[in-house]
Amino acid sequence: HTKNNGRNGYSFFQPSMNTIAQNQLQLINDLWLAQENKELRLFYQPKFCAPRGPIIGFEALLRWQHPQRGLLTPDIFLPLAEKTGLIVSIGNWVIGEACRQLRCWHLQGNSQWSVAVNLSALQFEQAGLVETVVNALETHQIPPELLTLEVTETTAMRDPDESIRILTQLTELGVKASIDDFGTGYSSLLYLKRLPASELKIDRAFVNELQAKTEDATIVTAIVALAQTLNLKVVAEGVETSEQQAFLTGLGCNTLQGYLLGRPVPPEKVPGLKQYVDGDELETVQVAAPKP
Ligand code: C2E
Ligand code: MG
Ligand code: MG
Ligand code: MG
Repeated sequence: HTKNNGRNGYSFFQPSMNTIAQNQLQLINDLWLAQENKELRLFYQPKFCAPRGPIIGFEALLRWQHPQRGLLTPDIFLPLAEKTGLIVSIGNWVIGEACRQLRCWHLQGNSQWSVAVNLSALQFEQAGLVETVVNALETHQIPPELLTLEVTETTAMRDPDESIRILTQLTELGVKASIDDFGTGYSSLLYLKRLPASELKIDRAFVNELQAKTEDATIVTAIVALAQTLNLKVVAEGVETSEQQAFLTGLGCNTLQGYLLGRPVPPEKVPGLKQYVDGDELETVQVAAPKP
């Protein structure tokens, strides 16, 4: 039973399977404790007004400072958090923490910055979401329009009528909604038109291949045109080269995000973040002294 069917990548009762299962169980157990032990943290990636600034805000991206495994990115633990339902309490923490950080930046003089938070499907459909958002805005005195909630196209289209209902409740608070990873799901254009979102984020898979594959350039062109028709702002994520930056700007993308312009960084690195200003020139973001 331990025969290795390496050829089709399919095998039963490999000793390694036990190890994998044990690892996953251990990780779930650790994740239970992570929140309590304050091992979760948010990194922030800048969003730039195309083509190269100013910074208009940041996307909050979850990280886990695991005591043994080091800094973990969401691909390692988010699927587990979703499967176990832990994502709901983690996600609620993310909303509060992002608002707390935004308030700090505002008090430091960056009152025009906004913050975007990712919502998982489970969190999006959870009854207490509106209350959580209201609480976070009130506790940290955030103007609602400076908080953006990102839901993936796949989440938004799972039950389109329900999504419209939830997003209507949220946007009535004044917060913004953004459709993330756009182009990877199957949108009904009829529903897309009715979703009270203000922004589409082009999935970085398309941006990535912009130069290499003509069909991706065509898709990106079509997405931007669609967004403009529907009166939605377009954010391109995963911008890594100046060619991509130029192409996307030329198409009329409003906002750019990607390693070329700024990687996700811990909040303590944000005031000193290098802002891409012109060509190769880098300038440190000015942060006003905290008000007394
Ligand atoms: P996303 O919301 O689409 O975020 C963009 C991802 O692309 C981030 O990965 C970011 O670090 C990465 N990225 C940004 N620019 C570039 C680039 O130029 N090149 C490349 N190769 N990658 C780039 P990250 O931080 O690993 O997050 C992955 C996904 O995990 C996110 O995708 C989002 O769906 C999810 N996620 C992150 N934080 C949270 C959270 O607080 N709650 C929930 N529910 N999901 C989260
Ligand atoms: Mg996102
Ligand atoms: Mg995305
Ligand atoms: Mg993504």
